[in-house]
Amino acid sequence: MEFKTIIEPFKIKMVEPIKMTTHEARKAFLEQAHYNPFLLKSEQVMIDLLTDSGTSAMSSNQWAGIMMGDESYAGAKSWERMDVAIHSLTGLEYVFPTHQGRAAERILYSYLGGKGKTFISNTHFDTTRANIEFSGAEAIDIPIAEGLNPSLIHPFKGNMDLQKLENLIKQKGAKNIAGVILTVTNNSGGGQPVSMDNAKSISRICKKYKVRFFLDCCRIAENSYFIKHRERGFEKYTYKEIAQEMFSLTDGAIMSAKKDGLVNMGGFLALKNKELADACKNLLIITEGFTTYGGLSGRDMEAIAIGLEEVFDANYLHYRIRSTAYLGEKLTKMGIPLIMPIGGHAVYIDAKTFYPQIPVNQYPGQTLVCELYLAGGIRSVEIGSVMFGKYDKKGVLIPASMELVRLAIPRRVYTQSHIEYVIEVFEKLLENRKYTKGYKIIEEPEFLRHFTAHFMPAS
Ligand SMILES: *Cc1c(COP(=O)(O)O)cnc(C)c1O
Repeated sequence: MEFKTIIEPFKIKMVEPIKMTTHEARKAFLEQAHYNPFLLKSEQVMIDLLTDSGTSAMSSNQWAGIMMGDESYAGAKSWERMDVAIHSLTGLEYVFPTHQGRAAERILYSYLGGKGKTFISNTHFDTTRANIEFSGAEAIDIPIAEGLNPSLIHPFKGNMDLQKLENLIKQKGAKNIAGVILTVTNNSGGGQPVSMDNAKSISRICKKYKVRFFLDCCRIAENSYFIKHRERGFEKYTYKEIAQEMFSLTDGAIMSAKKDGLVNMGGFLALKNKELADACKNLLIITEGFTTYGGLSGRDMEAIAIGLEEVFDANYLHYRIRSTAYLGEKLTKMGIPLIMPIGGHAVYIDAKTFYPQIPVNQYPGQTLVCELYLAGGIRSVEIGSVMFGKYDKKGVLIPASMELVRLAIPRRVYTQSHIEYVIEVFEKLLENRKYTKGYKIIEEPEFLRHFTAHFMPAS
């Protein structure tokens, strides 16, 4: 670790070719995709930083596990392994497999939610918010003020505002709070970590008012890395021990294993309380599958059990967090405005500052996403007013608090030279920065519009 260069702590044994494209071709592809990179074909993309979800490269151990998958309907060995892995990590009694994170969200939040109920989070992820609002409940985000200031350096910008939490519980009435959801790391808030101290305080407040406390633990290993290196008192803990301590504060957890599970598909719901678990079990069986597979193949469950071990490996986590920071540090040196400090799984660009001439109703974030694709075949995602914007009664856009573009880094997929290329593409964008124009939405669905909306250049 005394060397400057962090080598990828793995060798490549199987390769997947990247199809090279020209600027001309990409122009046509983007137009066909209605200027929404979610609608591009993956082979039209050279470096895919759309998401770190389900895009991990699995290890040789996981692939070996795939061959060991027990595909029995009930009581499969592979389920037993997954159950043991999750139980030993979370300490939570009742574990249910689901096909991905949002399936667990739908089960838990539709059961606890409904009209008149409120969920409170540091920041609800988009599928979390959609599931809650679809149930008729409301979802309120209360990140700390520092978390909303992109350039401010703070070790735990993912923290929840404790004063606001207590005020909201009092204002809404504890019985109307369906749950407090702590997202670690805070994905929509910039991939920023949450401190153990913050989690402990939330737990204390929830206990005081008898409100349920859940962890959205998609990136719990990455969060543990930051705690070990930034929070006093955790230097000697292993990453897994830090995660275990955080789980011990909660009433349950939801995970998309497509993130820190290091797999391409899967998730789980884990709960402490039997009555709640029984209710969720019914919903699971009706819509996902029996309790020992929940919509997953035996081989998927085997890979999750192994992935949840591998992700806490100290060399892996060091490489993971430092290589994301490497991209961020290079971009910062070039003057690209980023959310600072660099988060765990992604680099977030402040598109409002990058393109000050583009008004929020012409979506500076979506503009940067399109420019990155045109210039270099890089796919990224807008996390701003396309994803979270709303309309008032007159149909005027209520913008999101930040206009961000996320470059999410798939786990164990790209090498340093891919990242150097991304940096070069940004050099190109800097040249045209002042002359770049925005986009308008011409077609959109009611929920999760960023996935399928159609755009047009604004002028
Ligand atoms: C990805 C994600 C989810 C949803 O999980 P899926 O597996 O995509 O359904 C929920 N919360 C957070 C924080 C996420 O990052």
